[in-house]
Amino acid sequence: MELTEKIKNIPTPAYYYNIELLEDTLHSLCRESGKYGYHIHYAIKANANPTLLKLISQYALGADCVSGNEIRQALETGFPADSIVYAGVGKSDAEIELALKKDIFCFNCESLPEIQVINEIAGRMNKKAKIALRINPNVNAHTHHYITTGIEENKFGIYLYDLEHIISEVSHLPHIQLIGLHFHIGSQITDMTVFRGLCIRANEIQAKLKEHGLILPHINFGGGLGIDYQDPHRHPIADFETYFATFARFFEPAPHQQIHFELGRSVIAQCGNLITRVLYVKEGKNRKFVILDAGMNDLLRPALYQAFHKIENISSGKLEEKYDVVGPICESADCFGKDVVLNATQRGDIIVIHSCGAYGETMASRYNLRDLPGNAYSK
Ligand SMILES: *Cc1c(COP(=O)(O)O)cnc(C)c1O
Repeated sequence: MELTEKIKNIPTPAYYYNIELLEDTLHSLCRESGKYGYHIHYAIKANANPTLLKLISQYALGADCVSGNEIRQALETGFPADSIVYAGVGKSDAEIELALKKDIFCFNCESLPEIQVINEIAGRMNKKAKIALRINPNVNAHTHHYITTGIEENKFGIYLYDLEHIISEVSHLPHIQLIGLHFHIGSQITDMTVFRGLCIRANEIQAKLKEHGLILPHINFGGGLGIDYQDPHRHPIADFETYFATFARFFEPAPHQQIHFELGRSVIAQCGNLITRVLYVKEGKNRKFVILDAGMNDLLRPALYQAFHKIENISSGKLEEKYDVVGPICESADCFGKDVVLNATQRGDIIVIHSCGAYGETMASRYNLRDLPGNAYSK
């Protein structure tokens, strides 16, 4: 296997990025979104590794940031300031000042108190802040409850019953320019009927605003397109074609309205694998444990959202056995998979955990005072 040759000498645990696959993914993304003239902002929080960001920014994508440091990182890695959108329920004063100073494209705002603070700070700096209202459209993304963000019980966005009130308040703020509406309903969504529902809700909202004579130049549908965690070999690139075609078919834009997306996971998830080695194979009473040198501090998703990742032993022979694959950390949640079928496994084998490019390296911590995972690239 080609991968085995490339990674057998990498110190583990390490994130290994397939640059050719990232380039193919970016080509597909640009081709499919380009059919409709859509604007794509890469969601930095999915993976903020500067080597990858420098490549992604070359494809003329904008950036979607959720903190001041992400704005800094985006600027340092080649994303133009006027392509940056900035979201988050809790923007601090210092972060707002930074975004204004750098003249980002748009703040995606989540509450009236936040907009009032932006107005105040912009006034002090003699600026006018461009904002979009992040709307909680009450559309259920049917994904894990920790990554559902568009229903009324979530902390995110402006609730529909508040929208007209907020729009009228905003119109009185002298340092705020309302330029759009923003949605982001969740992540790892593979059921396109969810996005169709979002389009229909957006049409309803726009029709209502139009009755009041309000037509906004920008609509931003956020991110959320899912990937195939079960079978990354069969579907290495997300289905951008069907995703964008869904919006083209069901969303009814106003004349000259610009349409934006903020994609994270679908851009980068399949391009990263976590490479790890087996420290020990331990025989329990009714099960065998494979104990890896990678733990939940390196890859948090299984512990945080019971996320599934495909796990493969690329060192050993053919005989298959069932194992619980765990890390070395002192937490029972430090488990990457139960009853995982692997080739018969022994100490020193290389284990590949697939589809770790998004929300992997960025969530790594030094819990237990472990070192952060390393990096390697296919070219
Ligand atoms: C996380 C996030 C995204 C990216 O979501 P993906 O599921 O990774 O595509 C986009 N927009 C906002 C506001 C986010 O918080």
